[in-house]
Amino acid sequence: MRLRSDAASYYLATAGAPSPRAPLSGAHAARVAVIGGGYAGLNTALGLCERGVRDVVLLEREHLGFGASGRNGGFVFGGYSLGEASLLRQLGRERAQALYRRTIAAVDLVRTRVARYAIACDAVDAGVYWTNWFRDPQVLRERQALLEREYGERWEWVSHPELRERVRSERYSDALYERNALHLHPLKYALGLAVAIEACGARIHEQTPAVRLERRGAAWRIHTPDGHVDAETVVLACGGYLAGLDRQVDRAVLPIATYVMATEPLGERLAECFGTRAAVYDTRFAFDYYRPLPDTRILWGGRISIRDREPMTVAKILRRDLLEVFPQLHDVRIDYAWSGLMSYARHQMPQLGTRGDGLWWIQAFGGHGVSSTAALGEFLAAAIAEHDTGWRELADFGLAESFRPLGFLGAEASYLWYRFKDWMKERGER
Ligand SMILES: Cc1cc2nc3c(=O)[nH]c(=O)nc-3n(C[C@H](O)[C@H](O)[C@H](O)COP(=O)(O)OP(=O)(O)OC[C@H]3O[C@@H](n4cnc5c(N)ncnc54)[C@H](O)[C@@H]3O)c2cc1C
Repeated sequence: MRLRSDAASYYLATAGAPSPRAPLSGAHAARVAVIGGGYAGLNTALGLCERGVRDVVLLEREHLGFGASGRNGGFVFGGYSLGEASLLRQLGRERAQALYRRTIAAVDLVRTRVARYAIACDAVDAGVYWTNWFRDPQVLRERQALLEREYGERWEWVSHPELRERVRSERYSDALYERNALHLHPLKYALGLAVAIEACGARIHEQTPAVRLERRGAAWRIHTPDGHVDAETVVLACGGYLAGLDRQVDRAVLPIATYVMATEPLGERLAECFGTRAAVYDTRFAFDYYRPLPDTRILWGGRISIRDREPMTVAKILRRDLLEVFPQLHDVRIDYAWSGLMSYARHQMPQLGTRGDGLWWIQAFGGHGVSSTAALGEFLAAAIAEHDTGWRELADFGLAESFRPLGFLGAEASYLWYRFKDWMKERGER
C-alpha cells in the first residue's frame, strides 16, 4: 500500500497557500507574550484582543497549528477528557455543572467566532453520533440519563434502524445523537483565529521557539534564537509539544499520540457509508472517530499510543479499523495519514493556573480540546485583562506530576487493559 500524497496531512494540503509570519528578531516588549500557536494560545490571544488588550505577542516554534490544533479530528463538542460522571463525583453537582456548561457555551463561541470573523473552515453544523459498538444498550441509557438529569443536556436516542439509515454499517447497535456539536477543518480554523488576532493589532511570529525564560524585576524576558520579548505576563500554551521552559509545567503532562487518515474522494460511494453529514465516534475506550468531508473523502481517526508512528504504519492500522466498520470500502485508497500529540494530565482535566508571578499555563486538553480551549482561553483572557477569578473553577486540577517516562508505561498499560475489556465484552456478546 502507498499513500497518494507526500503532504504531512490532508489539512496542510488543503488549508490554502500559507502566509508565513516572520520569525521574531531583535528586542521587543509587550504586555502579554503567549508561547504556542495552537488553540490554547490563539484563543487566549483572541480573548485578550476582544477585551481590549492588544499589546500581545504570540510566538510559535514551527507554524501556526503545527501541533494537535492543526491535526485533529475536527469534532467540536462539549465536555472534557474526564467524563461527565467522574467530573460529578469529584466536584459535586454545582461545580461540575458549571465547568461542563463552560464547554457547551464554548461550542457556541466557536460558532460565533467562525461567523463573526468569517473563518472559512468547512464547518458542518450537523451534530455528532455516539454509536454503540456493543449490543448492550446500558452504556447509552446511563449516559443519556446522567446528561439530562445532572447537566440538563438532552442527547437523542437513535434506534438501530434509524442509525442504519445515517451510518451505513452493520457494526453498531443503537446510538445517541448530540445535536449541539459541529465539525470543521481544524487547521483552517486555527489560521482564521490568527487572522482575527492580527486584525486587532496583536503580533504573531512563526519559526520562533521560546528557548529560555528569565525573570527580570517584575517582568519576564523570553529569549528566542534571534531576539527577545519583555512582558509582564507570559502564557505557556504548548500542549503535548512541551516548551522546555518550566520543568514543573512540562512534567505535568503526558504527550500521547493518536492517528488520523483521509481516504481518496469517494464521490457517490460516500452514500454507501453515510446518510448524514454528522461526525461519528463509538462507545469503546479506544474509539474510532470519523466524519464525511465536503470533498467526499472520509476523515478517519483512532487509537491512542505512546508512539508517534510513520504515516504508512498509521494508514495500515487505521485502514483495518475502517474496514471493520465499512467493509464495502475494501478497495478504497488512502491518500493521507498522520499522527499528532495530545497532552494529558493524570487527572484528565485541563490545567490552567499561575504562581502569581505573571507566568500562566494553559494545557492538557487531551482529546477534547477544540471547545475546551475556547472555554479556558476565555477564563485566562478575563483573568489577565480584568483580574477575573473565574479560572479558579479549575483550581482542583493542578500541575500533578505525570511521572514520565514511567507515566508512559502506565498510560499504555491502562490503554491495553481497557482495550482488552472492550474485546472481552465484544466476545461475550457473540
Ligand atoms: C490526532 C488528534 C485528534 C484530535 N481530535 C480532536 C477532536 O476531534 N476534537 C477535540 O475537541 N479535540 C481533539 N483533539 C485534541 C485537540 O486537538 C487538542 O486538545 C488541542 O488542539 C490542544 O491545543 P493546544 O494549543 O493546547 O496544543 P497544540 O495544538 O499542540 O499547540 C501547542 C503549540 O505550542 C508550540 N510550542 C511548543 N513549545 C514551544 C516553544 N518553546 N516556543 C514556541 N512554541 C512552542 C508547538 O509547536 C505547538 O504548535 C485531537 C488531538 C489530536 C492529536
